[in-house]
Amino acid sequence: MIADSSPAPIPARLAAAPEQGPTVSFELFPPRSAAGEASLWAAIARLAEAAPDFISVTYGASGSSRDTSRAVVRHVLEHTQVRPVAHLTCIASERSELRTIAEGFLADGVRDVLALRGDPPAGAEPWVPPVDGLSRASELVAFLREIDPAVAIGVAATPSCLPAVPEPDAPLCGDLLALRAKQDAGAQYAITQVFFEADSYRRYVAAARAAGVDLPIIPGIVPLEDPARLRRLQEISGVPVPGALLDRLDSETDEQRRRAAGLELGAELVSEVLEAGAPGLHLYTFNQSRASIALLDRLGLRSGAA
Ligand code: FAD
Repeated sequence: MIADSSPAPIPARLAAAPEQGPTVSFELFPPRSAAGEASLWAAIARLAEAAPDFISVTYGASGSSRDTSRAVVRHVLEHTQVRPVAHLTCIASERSELRTIAEGFLADGVRDVLALRGDPPAGAEPWVPPVDGLSRASELVAFLREIDPAVAIGVAATPSCLPAVPEPDAPLCGDLLALRAKQDAGAQYAITQVFFEADSYRRYVAAARAAGVDLPIIPGIVPLEDPARLRRLQEISGVPVPGALLDRLDSETDEQRRRAAGLELGAELVSEVLEAGAPGLHLYTFNQSRASIALLDRLGLRSGAA
C-alpha cells in the first residue's frame, strides 16, 4: 500500500509545477516473455532511481496482458517508492468486469488510473461496445469516480487530431470534444500521444484551451535515438515522423554518434515544450531505461542524480 510518505498526488504535483519544476514520468508496457519480464524489473529499478513522479503501465484488453499489467503495477508498488498509474481501457469489458478490475487495482494500493477507451481489436470494425459496456473514455472516468471518488484520474489527448495546416474556422475535432467530456466527467490531467514537433503540442494546447479544457496536458515524448523504432511508431500511431529528423539520425552510421544526435534532438524538443508551459514530461520508455535517463540527465531533470 502507498504509505503517507509517498510522493505527492499527481494533480497536486502538476499544480505545483510552476514552482517545483516539471513532473517526470515513465510509461511501461506488460512484458510478453520471461526474458522481457526480467529485463523490465531491471529497467524499473534504474528508472526508479531517477525518482520520477509516477510510472504508468499500459493495459491490454486480452486476459493475459491484463493480468501482466496488474503484475507490473504491483511490482512498482512493492519494489519502489514510485507512484504507479494503472492504465485501464473500457473497450472490451462489461461494467461488472470493469468494476472487478478497478477494485482489484484499488485493493492492491493503486490510487491513480489513466482512463482510456482503448482501440478496437484488429478486424473488429465497425466496433460495437459490449452489452452493458462503456463506449467512451469519458464514461469510464465517471464510472471510476463512482467506484472511488478519491482516485486520481488521467486521460489521453491526441494532438494529431488537428489538421496539419491550421484551419481557422474548422469545427472542433472529435478528440477535443472527447477531452472536454473527460474533463467534465472528472479527469484531472491528460497525457498526449507521441508527437515530434513542439508546434504540435503548442497548437493542441491552444486549441484545447479555446475549447474550454483547462486540464494540465503532459507531453508524451519518445526518446529520438532509434530511427527504426520511430518508423515503426509512425506505422502504428499514424503520427508522421518529420523526414528531416529521420535523415539526421540515418546520416550517423556510428551508433554512439547516432545516439548523441538523437539525444540532442530529443532535448531540443523537450526544452521547447517546457518553454511553451508544459507542466511535465512523460517518457515512452519501451521498457528500457538508458535513453530516458540520458535525456533527463541532458536536461538536468533527474531528481535522483548524485
Ligand atoms: P475517447 O476519449 O473515448 O475518444 C475516442 C474517440 O471517440 C475520439 O477521438 C472521438 O473521435 C470520439 N469521441 C469521444 N467522446 C466524444 C465526444 N464527447 N464528442 C465527439 N466525439 C467523441 N490504448 C490501450 O489499449 N491501452 C493503453 O494502455 C493505452 N494507453 C495510452 C496512453 C496514452 C498516454 C495515450 C495517448 C493513448 C493510450 N492508448 C492506450 C490508446 C488509446 O486507447 C487510443 O488512442 C484510443 O483510440 C482512444 O482512446 P481515448 O481514451 O482517447 O478515447
